[in-house]
Amino acid sequence: MRQLKIERITPFLADRFLLVRVYTDQGIVGNGEAGLWAHHGMVHRAILNLSHYYVGKDPSRIEHHFQTVSRDTHFMGAALSAALSAIDIALWDIAGKAVGQPVHRLLGGRVRDKVKVFQNIGGATAAACAESAREQVAAGYLSLRMSPFLPGFERKTASQVIGDAVAMVAAVRDAIGFEIDLGLEIHRNLRPEEAITLAHELLPFRILYYEDPLAPESLEAMEYIAKSVPLPMATGERFHNIFQFKDLIDRKIVSLVRPDLSLAGGFTQLKKIAAIAEAAFVGVFPHLMGSPVNIAAFCQLAASIPNYFLMESHTGADVYNEIVDWPVTRDGGYLLVSGRPGIGLEIDEKSLDRYPYTPKQILGNFHADGSVAH
Ligand SMILES: [Mg+2]
Repeated sequence: MRQLKIERITPFLADRFLLVRVYTDQGIVGNGEAGLWAHHGMVHRAILNLSHYYVGKDPSRIEHHFQTVSRDTHFMGAALSAALSAIDIALWDIAGKAVGQPVHRLLGGRVRDKVKVFQNIGGATAAACAESAREQVAAGYLSLRMSPFLPGFERKTASQVIGDAVAMVAAVRDAIGFEIDLGLEIHRNLRPEEAITLAHELLPFRILYYEDPLAPESLEAMEYIAKSVPLPMATGERFHNIFQFKDLIDRKIVSLVRPDLSLAGGFTQLKKIAAIAEAAFVGVFPHLMGSPVNIAAFCQLAASIPNYFLMESHTGADVYNEIVDWPVTRDGGYLLVSGRPGIGLEIDEKSLDRYPYTPKQILGNFHADGSVAH
């Protein structure tokens, strides 16, 4: 095969997803997805702008393109990083398809046979949450995650919120016992003092990780929480470059980092973030919000890094399986790693017409006094 050339790059907004396809002059098409889910409109525009650089270029010089574009697009931020990440995933897909190999083989080969995933549980009451946990264990999951907040918690007192959270976690442990992994997603919903008090009260419930007790803007605040909280911390889903992850890891704030392949720099940068984490015995717990395209790409990454820890299951995305030809399949608490070339699938562009784009609305969350919550 002679040298491939990129002919065009097309982004697609569909439902709550932003997909990208990179077309080459020899019929090979790369598929990717962007992960700045609240701002797909901006990232869509950024992909169109960046595509002028890529057209006519050799798609195999992936690292070179990443360096050129990220260093020459002044004021790099999350929108540009999400655009670059989507294109990067597509370029790795092309690289695999060009040699008939799955991406994980280009990244050093499989270090695991299947990819452990968690399922989210929830409900409007502690009992409903416990029932949801029972159902997911029956469906084969070995790892569950819950956000221990009842509807309307923003308007309750801190003591009520903490009491309800402990009751919910206790009900879930009662329902599933202590042999299923249980992680807590705080979703940046608590103030530092509330997060610390809650963590201490949760100690008897064998919590696998405490995710995002605070918004990520202040590493100092996060460091304070990490030193005060007796649970393993996980964070990083809004971080979008290797430098932010290095700071987070160097400060010994976390046990687990949550880089998003489709936001923090695609395969090119995620391999590096994973290596920085590996050298500090920090696990990689990728953040996954996306379509079957992202699920397939994330599985390729998870298969190839030794310190992979866990990620979301299909997160409801299996209803979108018809947008691709070979969706990833699940076996109990694991996803199976495709051995097909690239990330293992093609996007069915015609199917996307059935999923009109639904942009995120800004609604806000408010305390009882009308002030803005989290
Ligand atoms: Mg999260």
